[in-house]
Amino acid sequence: MDKQAVRHTLEQLAAFLELKGESPVRIRAFRNAARAIAGYPADLAQAADSDALRRLKGVGPATADLVRELLHTGRCSALDELREHIPPGLVEMLRIPGLGVAKVRQVHEGLGIESLADLEAAAADGRLAALSHFGAKTAENVRKGIAYLRQSSDLRLFHHALDETEAVRRALEALEGVLRVEVAGAVRRRCELIRELALVAVHGGNGAGAALVQRLGVASGVTEIAGKTGAVTLRFTSGTVVDVFLATEAEFGLCWIRATGSPAHLEQLEARARTAGGSLDAGPALSDEEGVYRSLGLAWIPPELREDEGELQAAADGSLPRLIERRDLRGFLHCHSNYSDGTVTIAEWAAACRAEGYEWVGITDHSESAAYGGGLRAEDVVRQHAEIDAVNRDAGGIRVLKGVEADILADGTLDYGAEVLDRFEFVIGSIHSRFGMSEAEMTRRVLTAMDDPHLAILGHPTGRLLLQREPYAIDLEKVLAKAALRGIAVEVNADPHRLDLDWRAVRRARELGVTVSIGADAHSTGGITNGAVGVGIARKGWLEASQVLNTRDADAFLALARRRRRAG
Ligand SMILES: [Zn+2]
Ligand SMILES: [Zn+2]
Repeated sequence: MDKQAVRHTLEQLAAFLELKGESPVRIRAFRNAARAIAGYPADLAQAADSDALRRLKGVGPATADLVRELLHTGRCSALDELREHIPPGLVEMLRIPGLGVAKVRQVHEGLGIESLADLEAAAADGRLAALSHFGAKTAENVRKGIAYLRQSSDLRLFHHALDETEAVRRALEALEGVLRVEVAGAVRRRCELIRELALVAVHGGNGAGAALVQRLGVASGVTEIAGKTGAVTLRFTSGTVVDVFLATEAEFGLCWIRATGSPAHLEQLEARARTAGGSLDAGPALSDEEGVYRSLGLAWIPPELREDEGELQAAADGSLPRLIERRDLRGFLHCHSNYSDGTVTIAEWAAACRAEGYEWVGITDHSESAAYGGGLRAEDVVRQHAEIDAVNRDAGGIRVLKGVEADILADGTLDYGAEVLDRFEFVIGSIHSRFGMSEAEMTRRVLTAMDDPHLAILGHPTGRLLLQREPYAIDLEKVLAKAALRGIAVEVNADPHRLDLDWRAVRRARELGVTVSIGADAHSTGGITNGAVGVGIARKGWLEASQVLNTRDADAFLALARRRRRAG
């Protein structure tokens, strides 16, 4: 890590503190230190390991320690902890050219906006322009800035990619001569990070394809079109770039398969067709995917599985899983309320979850040690539980469960201790601090926490934040094996910034017989859609409904926590 990288980290730290509304003195101190270090004339690593850096003007002992951690481990635990409790959408907004921390805070506090998609909507519908110090010109610049971000970073998070693809899909659907438009590509496979967006558009054939290409070229918002007949690439003023595959109804099945599968999956399909003495394209035109797979002696393969991870074999011998679906989820859990860093009251959570068809909702605010996340003191817990009891009395049609997201402390004990933890109906244990431990230390920390009979669910097991923070070092195999042994559920955290466990590890958890809990980690009712995102990852991990904890009714869900406590 060089001086410029250290400077960048310190500046980020200052920006995050400012987003949190911390004291201006502390913020200025980090900015000064960043400048001093960028201009330091000698070797920084040497200075950090000796006393020279501590004595440098503008750099105090605390910052010097932080720089040494950065140089030795490449990480900054102070930054990691802060990041844990700032809505990730706000961090993304900081990357919009010209927006800056003060305006991001204003947008968050004034309009309650926490995501790029919401910000883009507010820029379009005039809410942003109406904020003081904003105006139409700034709103327009924000819109352009979001477009610029999209163009400059080709990898994006699943939910952003889905929003972008859906917007284009709806626009194309309205075009004359389009019979049908379907989402394809990595979005349809529900990958956690998406590079390319793809759609399939169906036309009437006999020259209708060429006519459609012409119409696409002049469609509203399109600035550029490349390619012809079979597939075109469209570029929009919003910055979105989409590949559109064109097919007649008769060709649709194969075209959708080609536009969806990972390259490795498609290669396997080709190989199978060759072994049978043909090729994918030489077969008869087939209008549906089932027909194409059937012609190869295969059952239809759900798009999430088309990754060349053994799905062809399973489709050939009839052993594909019956994948979980959104409607299988009976409970919504891992919700933060206004008792900690969420924005929603208990009653609002109950109403939102009932409206989405859930039977129960598990509230899990932060525990006391999570100072950044507004963790609850023991006396707040009493208040919160009385409120939950009242909501359960008054609100029909949904049951609110008393849960907690307790910090797994550095020594592996759970925050609060047994006496307070006993008051909760279930406990998620998560790591929110000291991410820089060695693999051996971190693994020991988590395994120790799993010995506590209060721990029912292990929250976001690797701590990753997609495109922002790598997972911490941990021996997942040991953790999953212990979860299976002890009957502890492991979370698929469905916050689209996390999607942790990774679906590849979900597959391993499934093999080991671990029960998976889909946790929304929602801080506002906007997070209600995380449930479906989590189901996508569970499906990618080959999970069936019976393997997912929140497909059970409330009593069966709580039985897991009770069984754990009795075992202790
Ligand atoms: Zn957490
Ligand atoms: Zn959480």
